[in-house]
Amino acid sequence: MVEDEQGDAQLVLLALRNAGNVFFEVTHVDTLAKAQQQLSLQSFNVVLLDLSLPDSFGLDTLRAIKQTAHGAAIIVLTGQYDTEFALNALEIGAADYLVKGEFSPDSLIRAIRYTLQRIEMDAHNRLLVAALEAAANGIVITDCEGHLEWVNPAFCKLTGYDLQEVMGKQPGGLVKSGLQDQAFYQTMWETIRRGETWRGEIVNKRKNGEFYDEALSIAPVRDETGAIRHYIGIKDDISERKRMEQELQKLARTDSLTGLFNRRVFLERLELEVARLVRLETLPIALLMLDLDYFKRINDSYGHAMGDVVLSHFAELITATVRTIDVAARLGGEEFGILLPGADQADALAMAERLREKVAAAILPHEKGEIRYTVSIGIAALSVTDANCEQALHRADAALYTAKANGRNQCCLFER
Ligand code: GH3
Ligand code: MG
Ligand code: MG
Repeated sequence: MVEDEQGDAQLVLLALRNAGNVFFEVTHVDTLAKAQQQLSLQSFNVVLLDLSLPDSFGLDTLRAIKQTAHGAAIIVLTGQYDTEFALNALEIGAADYLVKGEFSPDSLIRAIRYTLQRIEMDAHNRLLVAALEAAANGIVITDCEGHLEWVNPAFCKLTGYDLQEVMGKQPGGLVKSGLQDQAFYQTMWETIRRGETWRGEIVNKRKNGEFYDEALSIAPVRDETGAIRHYIGIKDDISERKRMEQELQKLARTDSLTGLFNRRVFLERLELEVARLVRLETLPIALLMLDLDYFKRINDSYGHAMGDVVLSHFAELITATVRTIDVAARLGGEEFGILLPGADQADALAMAERLREKVAAAILPHEKGEIRYTVSIGIAALSVTDANCEQALHRADAALYTAKANGRNQCCLFER
């Protein structure tokens, strides 16, 4: 208590002493200088401050104390009352004010208790804000129309926007990638307007235009009447996880040497096409089995690494020859398979011939001389009578065997 008038000081002390179940420890000083000295020696919860002191007057007293108060709440005791003055006092940082001669012991104690409660709440809120600001997830608070009212640093880092750029804007206008359709956002809004939490994965766009995958949850926040006033969005950048998932998927589906599909994918696709043909009897579809001729000799003459180069070369020729709807795979070793949807035997033979000729015409340079190689190709049409893909594979294999037996470097149709 900073109070130079003994009478006023006694009244306050009396009120505090008779406060019932609350106990106050009071230090009483009567000048600004002494008050400042006390504040530098000891920490206080509340400063009860008379503004008219022998060494200071009015709002200057408040300003001076505010500077040395170290977080103590200041309740101003003033002899005069006018609204302007009171507002100024609050503006400078007084927690509350009481007009001398007009406050009761009860209202004094209530003012102190409210002030202390508010300090505690402020500290608690600051702690929560610190937690939100430190969170690795992007966190946003919007009003009920979705305008941003608060975002944490992780949101800025995630999106590339700074605070001033996003305030008052709707996230959609900032980060919408255009990759989700209208129905997606409609479901989201319907869910949160119903008062439920929405969770999902979404592709958004950073300020620099880069797309990223985000796991997003949006929770509505209601006021005491139950009306939805805010939404809280929590964002997790899952781009890296998505990228790794895709990478793994690709690894599981492709042959690492040639980049073509692997045997498993090819057989799955063949099984599917057989089932489709049997059920729907739609377009014809042809199956090619391809095997490089005397490939062992290439390995033996030029080494395994050069053999690999030839395999990659052959895969490139395949890719350059097939259509985008065709499915080409390395089935193992120097054996390949191609599915040609929509192709009858004649179409397939024409395509196989083109590929065979390209291979036969290719020359790969090597220090020991030029490398040439050839391929044999067996062709079979899938049949509506196929029970499974094994039967189709068997026919194509038989045709390939014929091509080999007839001297290699040729394409043979399966003949029953
Ligand atoms: P054919 O004309 O009868 O098909 O004779 P070929 O020598 O091509 O047939 P064979 O099946 O006897 O030999 C295939 C060779 O392919 C044997 C194997 O060492 C080689 N090979 C299998 N996988 C790879 C590979 O990934 N890289 C390399 N460089 N060689 C491989
Ligand atoms: Mg071979
Ligand atoms: Mg072979």
